[in-house]
Amino acid sequence: MRDDWPAQRSCAGYDLPRETGVVGLWCVGDAVKKYGNGGTQACAETAKIVTDAILAARPRRSAGRV
Ligand SMILES: Cc1cc2nc3c(=O)[nH]c(=O)nc-3n(C[C@H](O)[C@H](O)[C@H](O)COP(=O)(O)OP(=O)(O)OC[C@H]3O[C@@H](n4cnc5c(N)ncnc54)[C@H](O)[C@@H]3O)c2cc1C
Repeated sequence: MRDDWPAQRSCAGYDLPRETGVVGLWCVGDAVKKYGNGGTQACAETAKIVTDAILAARPRRSAGRV
């Protein structure tokens, strides 16, 4: 919460993408939320979405390997 920044960092429906085009760099937070969400709940959700995407993109280890 800085100065006169609005409660929602972007209006619903006008959020930016979470992908940046830079490998390994993602956006999370209230400005990249899913439609209908907002506030700190949206921040947590976008972090989960990005984390899931990162984990899903990782190569799977074969069974038995550490
Ligand atoms: C008055 C008010 C009341 C609110 N009440 C609630 C509530 O009751 N419940 C709720 O869930 N949400 C509430 N919110 C919304 C909530 O505060 C925001 O959704 C949340 O803080 C957004 O988090 P964020 O990480 O996306 O962005 P931010 O918390 O804004 O984090 C962005 C950070 O980036 C920094 N930054 C910006 N530009 C640069 C730059 N060029 N270089 C480096 N750093 C930069 C900023 O200083 C800031 O620290 C409220 C907001 C306001 C303003």
